[in-house]
Amino acid sequence: MLCVEVSFAVNYAVMQSSATQGAFAIINNERGATMTIRIYDTQARAKREFVPVNPGKVGMYCCGPTVYNYIHIGNARTFISFDVIRRYLIWRGFEVTFVQNVTDVDDKIIKKANEEGRSAAEVAQEYTQAFIEDMRAAGVMDPDVRPKATEEIDGMIALVQDLIDSGHAYESQGDVYFAVRTFPEYGKLSHRNIDEMEGGHRELRADGQGLEDRKRDPLDFAVWKAAKPGEPSWESPWGPGRPGWHIECSVMSRKYVGKTLDIHGGGADLAFPHHENEIAQSEAASGMAFTNYWMHGGMLQINSEKMSKSLGNFLLLRDVLKQVEPATLRMLMLQTQYRSPLDYSADRLAEAKASLERIENLIDRLDWVIANPVEGEGSLDLAALQAQMDAVRAGFVESMDDDFNTAGALGSIFTFVGEVNAAVGTSSLTPAEARAAQAARETLVELMGVFGITVGDQKGETYPVEVLALAKEVAGYEGESTVAAVEALLEARAAARKEKNWAVADAVRNGLGELGLLIQDTPQGAKVTFK
Ligand code: AMP
Ligand code: ZN
Repeated sequence: MLCVEVSFAVNYAVMQSSATQGAFAIINNERGATMTIRIYDTQARAKREFVPVNPGKVGMYCCGPTVYNYIHIGNARTFISFDVIRRYLIWRGFEVTFVQNVTDVDDKIIKKANEEGRSAAEVAQEYTQAFIEDMRAAGVMDPDVRPKATEEIDGMIALVQDLIDSGHAYESQGDVYFAVRTFPEYGKLSHRNIDEMEGGHRELRADGQGLEDRKRDPLDFAVWKAAKPGEPSWESPWGPGRPGWHIECSVMSRKYVGKTLDIHGGGADLAFPHHENEIAQSEAASGMAFTNYWMHGGMLQINSEKMSKSLGNFLLLRDVLKQVEPATLRMLMLQTQYRSPLDYSADRLAEAKASLERIENLIDRLDWVIANPVEGEGSLDLAALQAQMDAVRAGFVESMDDDFNTAGALGSIFTFVGEVNAAVGTSSLTPAEARAAQAARETLVELMGVFGITVGDQKGETYPVEVLALAKEVAGYEGESTVAAVEALLEARAAARKEKNWAVADAVRNGLGELGLLIQDTPQGAKVTFK
């Protein structure tokens, strides 16, 4: 293992960010200590301090989908987890290279194409495009490189040839197999012993079913498959054929990230045999460590049951996003740390929605008081607010540094939301207090942005311009501030209600409703939120 023992510490005070989320804010670490990220490495079965191969840079590879159908929300859970990990590393100041392949040649694609009387290429193209659309709809950043297996065949043939030349692979009737016993460390990721696998590991056998006679050892797996009639194929030194699934990732990760990856990700179901086979191929060929940190995400379950077509609880991401805001889906997922199994249910969606609303309502309230400062003594404890802002950042970083504990990081954010809610209340702020409130708002927007969730933008600091006309008609308001117009409307409504003039009260509620605004009556008085 290429595992450097020197600690690479990130000093928050000097850290700069190329983050898309805006300027990186300096973290005040009261203890004056530097802190490091710790990642649970499947191979080590422990959290290890993160030390990238090149200081300040991270090379990440996350296995992509096999494109024979729309992706389901289980796939989405894994992809969203790695999106958040990537975003956090960027925010922490690392230069991240993120590569995700598309498996666009595979038995399942060929089967689907035959069933539908189409070519495998057509099927793959349709679902690759759908995958890209679905990922964007879920707020997942495009990878830096998204290589397709069918466009990298030359590299795969070259790697297979290397493995044959070095005695790690052999040709047999047009297939090429990796000779597992030539790689004594086989099994080190999933902690399996080669001798215990002997004679028929089901998953491995599945790779070469019916082809046992072609293999020298039942453990061996295909790196190249001879063409069968009617299947897509490419010319190779072993005759026409197509690559095995595992060889793809070895080739594409090496080409676009490097021989040693900092982080290799995927769902837990990929650790064996897929990732074990990637290690064998890559390390046998390069003689170098393939991946320094193996990260595996937990499986998504529906109402605590495995998601499967036969149970009838199989949900496609695109169908879910017809009913659920992407931010709500992400919020649900973030409430569980990436490594644990994740339970998807209507109740958890409702909780996630309510959590987001708490943040949005606070931002609404902040926007209101920021837009309407008044001169005076002021009652906000500015030092306490500053301490709360420092604490939310420190808590967020501490949790995320601890193996990307998004649940813990959200805990810090909600503590902060509660504190700011209590501090700001409904009273007006002085201009200096309004500036502090603005900083609190920016903190929330920035930290939620690291999760790929945009808060506070649709609700902005102003209301739709049409409220001016409504306020003029109903409340006689003549000014140009939409915030003041809404205030005038609420005052007019309050007065009308006192006089039991329901027509005017209803005109305000309905007029605002048509503009997408909702009046909420709270103990502190009426307030307007966006629907
Ligand atoms: P596949 O197309 O089956 O190779 O899956 C693409 C990615 O989704 C892989 O990283 C899988 O580990 C992951 N995945 C598949 N099913 C689930 C699930 N139920 N929960 C979480 N991740 C999953
Ligand atoms: Zn892979």
